Amino acid sequence: MIDESTTRTEERSLNFLEEIIEKSIAEGNTRVQTRFPPEPNGYLHIGHAKSICLNFGLAKKYNGLCNLRFDDTNPVKEDTEYVDSIKEDIKWLGFQWAGEYYASDYFQQLYDWAVELIKKDKAYVDDQTQEEIRLGRGTVTVPGKESPWRNRSVEENLRLFEEMKDGKYADGEKVLRAKIDMAHPNMLFRDPIMYRILHSEHHRTGNKWCIYPMYDYAHGESDSIERITHSICTLEFDVHRPLYDWFIEQLGIFPSHQYEFARLNLTYTVMSKRKLLQLVKENYVSGWDDPRMPTICGLRRRGYTPASIRAFAEKVGVAKRDNVIDLGLLEFCIREDLNKNAQRRMVVLDPIKVVITDYPEGKTEIMSCVNNPEDETAGRRDVSFSREIYIERSDFMENPPKKFFRLTVGSEVRLRYSYIIKCQEVIKDENGNIIELRCTHDPMSGNGSSSDGRKIKGVIHWVNAADALPVEVRLYDRLFSKEAPDNTEEGKTFIDYLNPESLKVITAMAEPSMAHISAGDKFQFERMGYFVADYDSTPGKPIFNRTVTLKDSWSKEAKK
Ligand code: ATP
Ligand code: MG
Repeated sequence: MIDESTTRTEERSLNFLEEIIEKSIAEGNTRVQTRFPPEPNGYLHIGHAKSICLNFGLAKKYNGLCNLRFDDTNPVKEDTEYVDSIKEDIKWLGFQWAGEYYASDYFQQLYDWAVELIKKDKAYVDDQTQEEIRLGRGTVTVPGKESPWRNRSVEENLRLFEEMKDGKYADGEKVLRAKIDMAHPNMLFRDPIMYRILHSEHHRTGNKWCIYPMYDYAHGESDSIERITHSICTLEFDVHRPLYDWFIEQLGIFPSHQYEFARLNLTYTVMSKRKLLQLVKENYVSGWDDPRMPTICGLRRRGYTPASIRAFAEKVGVAKRDNVIDLGLLEFCIREDLNKNAQRRMVVLDPIKVVITDYPEGKTEIMSCVNNPEDETAGRRDVSFSREIYIERSDFMENPPKKFFRLTVGSEVRLRYSYIIKCQEVIKDENGNIIELRCTHDPMSGNGSSSDGRKIKGVIHWVNAADALPVEVRLYDRLFSKEAPDNTEEGKTFIDYLNPESLKVITAMAEPSMAHISAGDKFQFERMGYFVADYDSTPGKPIFNRTVTLKDSWSKEAKK
């Protein structure tokens, strides 16, 4: 259950980042400059959306600017395909960056600064292997050992670093390390690696460079070059902050500051890029934009709107402690949006034929239906009605439990925007399956009343059999059946928790006007849920994805 108070976001108090910014503004520092720094090695997901809303949102709120900076310092995993998708997703979410930058644009500056640090005897070239370096770092309780190459002369270091840059050495043969303190209590200060050799083509700089800066060296410096005032990242980087400050201090450059917030985790999904990539590569999903994926393109294809994702990010808030958010909250946000904005249509997902035996053969009536009761401007539409219609199989029960207000033999139900019908007879095939219902109708009940003023509790949707349009409907559900698929039991992987029922494809019967939809059109199928037209639709053959059901059937509340 979402309680009322969480939905009234406009009255909320300041989050801790806003407090920091307002305090700093009060002290006279009015410039706010943030950045969103994705590594172009995968598609953005809902966690990134949280970070985007935060960085762009803070800049907007305080009349500042937010840059888009691609953190493209690892040529091995990065690609322009990802750059393009990231830009598309940010724009779709409704944000525009001030400047588009690439850490790779700063390679020369970063190199020059590294030379400066060597000259100050704050960096050295180390010939140890990766393994030797790892062992030499010690542990939290045991201090590290100094590298035998740590005390090379400045001249030798300058020459070797230049030779590294010029391609004289193979991958892994040498690294450049900062010269700090091998016994430092913060392990990251034990002579962190600044540069490694990678003879690998970069998606932007090609083969110009064969040495690449490490995150800790490149990130703060890139922030400083762009004069970022608030460098916001996720909590796991808090131990990196002193190192971020150390490089900036040593170089005496613009003092950007780093602030950490809790990363967004969601139930019933995974968010690590490595795991998402595995789902795609091993065909557990149809691609990065499979509607079950937590990626932004997946959510878009599922029928989520930018406004619903922004509202979600706002409701989640900005925490300083890691937590897991109920996927139900994201679903709540899209329901709220679509309830106000999606037109209603009648679509029967699991049709059973109803023959209204006392309705004249050959007669057709036009029923006027409200497009959206939440939005008067959405107007009305005409839907035809005749002697044979389809209703939902689950709206009839031969042996109903108490309080079943839909159709059963001898009972009455109202057809939405049409007559009250009464079921008289059930027709079955030789195997006992119900294939048809014979009903009569109250001819005086067409305008929402009845012949004698009696009240009918049940109202069901229907479509006219004569012109019903068969449509493909993809019933998506949660990708995992376990709340925390990352918490694996022994001998299992997250793959073992995939929900086998996360996709069911059916043929439904829809109002004929739905032949003319465009991909991305969103509807509420009355009583069934919210659906969006998929881009796999072809003219006259629409395909719909279920965005979300009308009610949360997964919550503990609903399972009772
Ligand atoms: P990786 O480092 O494994 O490639 P990442 O998820 O950190 O993945 P980045 O491209 O480095 O991906 O992330 C870009 C920005 O988005 C970073 O500032 C990061 O902190 C933020 N971010 C990533 N995941 C989340 C999340 N789940 N919640 C909030 N912010 C996130
Ligand atoms: Mg990262």
